[in-house]
Amino acid sequence: MLIKPIPRKSLPDLVAGKLAAAILAGQFTTGAQLPPERDLIKDFEVSRSSLREALRILADAGVIEAQQGVGWFVSRPSERGLLKARALAAEIEPAHPKAARASAPAGPQRLPVAGEKPLRIPNLKKDRLGTFEFISWWEREKVRAARVLVVGAGALGNEVVKNLALMGIGNLFILDFDNVEAANLSRSILFRESDSGREKAMLAAARAKEINPEINVQYLHGDVTTAIGLGIFRRMDVIIGCLDNREARLAVNRFAYWVNKPWVDGAIQELLGLVRVFVPGQGACFECTLTEQARRDLALRYSCPLLARQNILMGKVPTTPTIASIIGAMQAQEALKLIHAMPVDAGKVVHFNGLNNYMHTTAYVPDENCESHWTYGEITEVPLRAETSTLEELLNVARADLGPEAVIELDQELILSLACSRCGTKEAALKPMSAVSFEAAHCPTCNEMRDVQMTHVITGGESFLRHSLLSVGVPPLHILRANNGVEYRFYELTGDLPETLHFRHFQETNGRQSGRAGNRVRLGRRVKLPAGNRPGPSRKRVRLRK
Ligand SMILES: [Zn+2]
Ligand SMILES: [Zn+2]
Repeated sequence: MLIKPIPRKSLPDLVAGKLAAAILAGQFTTGAQLPPERDLIKDFEVSRSSLREALRILADAGVIEAQQGVGWFVSRPSERGLLKARALAAEIEPAHPKAARASAPAGPQRLPVAGEKPLRIPNLKKDRLGTFEFISWWEREKVRAARVLVVGAGALGNEVVKNLALMGIGNLFILDFDNVEAANLSRSILFRESDSGREKAMLAAARAKEINPEINVQYLHGDVTTAIGLGIFRRMDVIIGCLDNREARLAVNRFAYWVNKPWVDGAIQELLGLVRVFVPGQGACFECTLTEQARRDLALRYSCPLLARQNILMGKVPTTPTIASIIGAMQAQEALKLIHAMPVDAGKVVHFNGLNNYMHTTAYVPDENCESHWTYGEITEVPLRAETSTLEELLNVARADLGPEAVIELDQELILSLACSRCGTKEAALKPMSAVSFEAAHCPTCNEMRDVQMTHVITGGESFLRHSLLSVGVPPLHILRANNGVEYRFYELTGDLPETLHFRHFQETNGRQSGRAGNRVRLGRRVKLPAGNRPGPSRKRVRLRK
């Protein structure tokens, strides 16, 4: 047997590993320029020759490339480059953008003891949550009364929902815009083969109720950036983000801040994962953690928002069910701690690297000028409804408070018209941006991408003031901002409350309850699928051989 000596890492190898980790973590994206050599020398505390050697290692691996006289740039990722970068990064603790100081594990945190907790011997034969009674700090009533919003019912969302249901978190609201496809089945405990084509949010809610019939569930099939009213966020104890893209995280982050709610973010890729808790006013928020490059990417996307949306809907991240279990479990556990008002590490990130099982916590630096750090003031509940109330009605309410100068700010851009610069045609639209696809924005005559005229401020001079709030993209139970140039007021469409937030989906109807027919969705009901895609034993599957 040939025994090879274990290679010792040299300084250039370590520096190359750290740079590779930063690139993999997205601190430097494809095409981004690395900081100048003198900065890197200072950051890594190495000599110029060690740094140059490290850069050469990365360049040889195809991870970065030099531009003569300009500097070093991140290459377009190739398979070889990625493998090499991962191997280099795996040798060191993963670096992280904006990581200021790595903090040592805080040691066992003091557990809050529920002093008034009565000593109760549970009946384990009949009480499904009985075991939890033995946990010193577990407060059953708090857990039963808790309201948790889970945004995203993919790999992470499945694990989170499963755990929340098992723990008896009393009220779960599940949001997702996607439908089940075969590839989801390898990492989604809540979905079955026969679920193909059905709504993930609905299925996750139904299965949560199956796992624990004692909890209440509700779901919404829609996109978090546009479909959910802020009044739902406002009535939650914790929001859990199970998302795979920056735009959706940014939306959840802003909404949570606006209504002063904690949220738990999770992210997974292959065997890597991270968990972070953001609490308004306590350290950094998600937006604070974005690098300059990420912000530039976002700004670029916002300059063509229709395309950005398209890209998000198509985004897929490779993951395994194991990393989803690990990170999803930690997210659910952080939520449980928040429900119990136990201490959490807000504004920090826990990294888990499944390649070497390293786990470490890093604090983010809060950004003083971060645009997300804004919490709404007092919210006025008005008996208006998104579907039946008009822009004019809301404007009148605002003007009664703020004077005739008051304007309404919509959260979603409203498309007014699409104009083609090539053939000169112009189409009036009046649709929220979410209702116009990237394809639809092209000219039907000459296929040119049209100029999109849009607005998000309603000043009172519009021709469409009599249109409903829903028709211009305001979701039910939303909270809208109005201002008169001096102060802001916040109005919630509270008329929507009974229908929009009820947690009554999949409730057994035993005659006592008076749930609306629309809420009593049964899982046994088949959702119509496009022809040719219908599962079921009655239809023989024809397999095509290659
Ligand atoms: Zn921030
Ligand atoms: Zn045209």
